[in-house]
Amino acid sequence: MLEVVGVPVLADNYVWLMHDKASGETVVVDPAVDAAVLAAAASLGWRISQIWNTHWHDDHVAGNVGIKAATGCRIIAPDDPEHPIPGVDRIVGEGDRVGIGTFEGHVLSTPGHTRVHLAYHLPDVAILFTGDTLFALGCGRLFEGTPDQMFANMRRLAALPPETLIYCAHEYTQANARFAVTVEPGNAALMERVREIDTERAAGRPTVPTTIADERDTNPFLRASTVAEFASRRAAKDVFRG
Ligand code: ZN
Ligand code: FE
Repeated sequence: MLEVVGVPVLADNYVWLMHDKASGETVVVDPAVDAAVLAAAASLGWRISQIWNTHWHDDHVAGNVGIKAATGCRIIAPDDPEHPIPGVDRIVGEGDRVGIGTFEGHVLSTPGHTRVHLAYHLPDVAILFTGDTLFALGCGRLFEGTPDQMFANMRRLAALPPETLIYCAHEYTQANARFAVTVEPGNAALMERVREIDTERAAGRPTVPTTIADERDTNPFLRASTVAEFASRRAAKDVFRG
């Protein structure tokens, strides 16, 4: 089995360490920094063998070069000619396969937040790394892409098995919840979830990972039924001050 541990860094980023005991491999997803990630791996006794990046933003790649220098790991990243990702060894895109030990990861193209953005899905263990595409109760801002692209991502991710664990790159859940309740005030599952989130955050605990099932029930972006509805929710969230 694979073990996934989150390293909270910067204001609200999670860097995910995924470890395969059988092979001894460890993958780092979106290292925002190097030192804290190396320290976390050392304290777990895990040797970092790969980095998987989702997109070019600094808070997802700034640790690449330092971690590679310290560990000799291999860096797998998307092809973004306008924003080359530091230290990349292998470029991947839609339909490519990555691996940790004997476990296979499927590379999904999920543009919208950035012009080029990937998610990594390990179907055998129901694990999904979404970067800044799908968040707990939210979705990524459209900096370089279109509502159509992000709506297509929502539809595609919503169709994954409900038990799939979603490891996103930020702890934005409470702020997302304040917006979500304005969209669907009558959604009982959402109201219940917001209470749980507030309890977790008050205790200093993470609200990630979430699941596809929970997002289907409560995420206003995943629940948008048309691209127009999605676009209007995304636009409203951009200016929402909760
Ligand atoms: Zn980003
Ligand atoms: Fe980010």
